[in-house]
Order: sequence, then C-alpha cells, then structure tokens
Amino acid sequence: MDNQGTTVYRGHVITPLSASEYLDYIDGALVVDAVGCIVAVGEWSELSAGVAGATIVDLGQRLILPGLVDLHLHLPQVSQTGRSGEHLLAWLNKYIFPAEARFSDTRHARKIASWFFDELARNGTTLAVVFTTVHKAAADAAFEVALAKGSRVIMGKVMMDANSPPALTETTQVSLEESEELAQKWHGADNGRLLYAFTPRFGVTSTPELLAGVGRLFAKYPGTYVHTHLSEAKEEIQFVSKQFPRARSYLDVYRSFGIIGERTVFAHAIHLDDDDIKCVKETRSSLAHCPSSNFFLKSGAFLYQKIRAAGCLFGLGSDVAAGPSMSLFNVMKDANYMQPDIWIEPPELLFRATLGGAQAAHLDHLTGSLTVGKEADFIVVDPSRKSGIVDDILAQPTDEILSSLVFLGDDRLIESTYVRGKCIFHCKNVDMLATC
Ligand SMILES: [Zn+2]
Repeated sequence: MDNQGTTVYRGHVITPLSASEYLDYIDGALVVDAVGCIVAVGEWSELSAGVAGATIVDLGQRLILPGLVDLHLHLPQVSQTGRSGEHLLAWLNKYIFPAEARFSDTRHARKIASWFFDELARNGTTLAVVFTTVHKAAADAAFEVALAKGSRVIMGKVMMDANSPPALTETTQVSLEESEELAQKWHGADNGRLLYAFTPRFGVTSTPELLAGVGRLFAKYPGTYVHTHLSEAKEEIQFVSKQFPRARSYLDVYRSFGIIGERTVFAHAIHLDDDDIKCVKETRSSLAHCPSSNFFLKSGAFLYQKIRAAGCLFGLGSDVAAGPSMSLFNVMKDANYMQPDIWIEPPELLFRATLGGAQAAHLDHLTGSLTVGKEADFIVVDPSRKSGIVDDILAQPTDEILSSLVFLGDDRLIESTYVRGKCIFHCKNVDMLATC
C-alpha cells in the first residue's frame, strides 16, 4: 500500500465502544491518512508490517484517546470564570451580560475568540457546541477564528428579543435575518468542520415570535442545529411558565414551536418530569449535562440515572463560565460527585466526554472514537505532566489509568490535540509551530 502522507501514532490506544466497554491496545497504533482520516487502529505488532513509508510518531507508553466533546459552553464568557455568589438570573445580570455587551466591539470579540479556541485545543476539546453573543459581526469573527485554528464547532449567534439588557436586545426580525445569513455562510464550512446552531438564549429572553421563527429556520436548513438552555434554575422556570402560560412545561414551550428533535441540544435539563424525559427520548433530542456549572450556581442535580435508564442521548458540557473549568476531566469528575447514590464508573465518564457526546451531537459517524473511517480527532495524554498521579501509572491496569485521569486530571494531562489529523495544540509549542 502507498503510505505517502500517512502518519502512524504508536502508543497506548484507548477508545470507547459504549458506556461500559472500550478497546485497549497497550502497544497500539493509530494510522491516519494524508487527509486526516483513520485508516487503521490496533496492535502495533499487527499493523507495523503494513506501514512502510509512513511517518512514525513513537509516543512510548503515552495514551492516545479520542478528542473530548464539550456539548455546551459560552465563548464570550471565557474571561468571566470563577465569579460566584449568585443564582443564575442575578449572575447573568451582574457578570455575564456586561461582558457580552463588550462584543459590540468586533476587535475585542476577535481577540477573545482567539483566546477561547486556543483554550479549547489546550484542554483537548475537539468538538465544542458554542454560544457566542447577539452580535452578528462577533459571531462571524468567531467562525473565522475557528476556521483558521482548525477547531471543530457547532456554533451560532445568540438570539435575544425580550427581557434583556438594552445593549443585548435585538428586534425579532433582525435576530432571525442575521441568524439565517450566518447559517447560509458558515453551516458546513470546510467540509463540515464548522456547523451552525440557531441559538435562542433561553425561554426568558425569547418572544413567541422569535421561537416560532427559530422553528421555521431549523426546518428550512436541514442539518443545522438548535442550541439553547432548558430548565436550569427554578426561578428561570417560573419566569418561563408565566411568559408561556399555555405550555405544559419548559420543554413543551420549545416543542410547541418546533424546536425539538435530532440536532437540538438542550443545556442543563435539570428539572424535568417523566413526560419531558419521554419526549426527549422519543424525539432523539440531546441533553448537555453540565455538573460543574450546576454545582457553581447551585442549580440542582441532573437526573442521571433516570435519563440514562430512559435511553436519552446525552453528554457533558463545561458551561464555561458558570462552569469554572474548560477541562472535560474536571467535568467528568463532577458528574460522578454530583450523584449522591450511584457511582458512574470512569469508562462511562470517558464515554460521555467522547463518543457519547458525539452521539448526542449526531456526529458519531465522524468523530468521538478512534474508529476506521472516522476523522482523526484525538489527544495524546501524558499523566506525568500532572502532579499527584503516581509515576508508574502507565504500567497499571487500564481501568486504574482511567480512574486516575478522571479523578486527578485536568488540562495539564494534554500533550497534544489533533482535529482531522492536524495538530492544533502541542504543550511544548504553544504557538502551534509545525513540529507537532
Ligand atoms: Zn450556558
């Protein structure tokens, strides 16, 4: 076989198959072709004979894992992490809305976007579902930065036409028109690496006309997404029930406007009843579970057992900045800590942060695991970069390795990050030079 342009990454390959099973090649190899697709994965001893002429990257015992999937976070809030002391609505008014208003300055917006996408790569995130702000030019700049930096995103301009500060209030018509223009420009860019999500902030800041318009756009542009918040805080839910008195529940507000179904991503979804959970399952809508954020704002606990048992699609979100860390390792740990009565085992946590997240984003045919035919979105993990992890961890059973990663890990574990076979971060080269 002609291996020109092929790269073989030799190391300890771990990739999830399901919430409880994973493939494990201790002396393994991931073979990536010239266009960034995975063409083989398995034992080095079996693959090495067929890779003559390929570039070999020997990673020793270091780990090769699928890139991490962050199903919900906010680009403009990256500068606002760690600002505690309020529940959701007061926190938004005090810290977040002023920070988002600054995005009317597109130079500022571009600078923060550059920082944000560098941080995503540094944290090993290879697919992110992202809120921007209401500003069209800022959202446009964010897509340009993501395109240039090689990030994989589902992203959109935020839509707010009610109960919002004057600096962030749009007319319904402008919100819908600008969102449609951005979707036409960016959805599917670079062979599908950039995807568009219509992004009404939440029920509180939406008129019925806006949500009806989102429903129409979602139906008009197949393959696009809707990304919004659902049932995060009790005061938010009360507000929404007064604003939409005919709806049976918060989820029913979105359902009544056609904002439900495959490629609808609902962040939080904490206070759901049985009918809501059934509706999420039946419509193949997706939930972004954001435990770190829910701890931080004291919003409540996700019904993990019930939602898992119902067979809903869900993954994890950092929800920066209500979540204080962009590292999915921190989020995995918090997902376990949040449940008082059950253990969520490390392989399942890794699944939720990789393949489970990709399934929830309906992109598991492309990413989320190290599988032949998928695009090569992966991270190289070096546990020795993080203090507190024992020196011989890589010689221990893989279940023990995963447990150490989940409970002791953070961004410092990440040696390098690849999207579609291209290195977008290397710890020894923060300027992303060509040596990685
Ligand atoms: Zn959020």
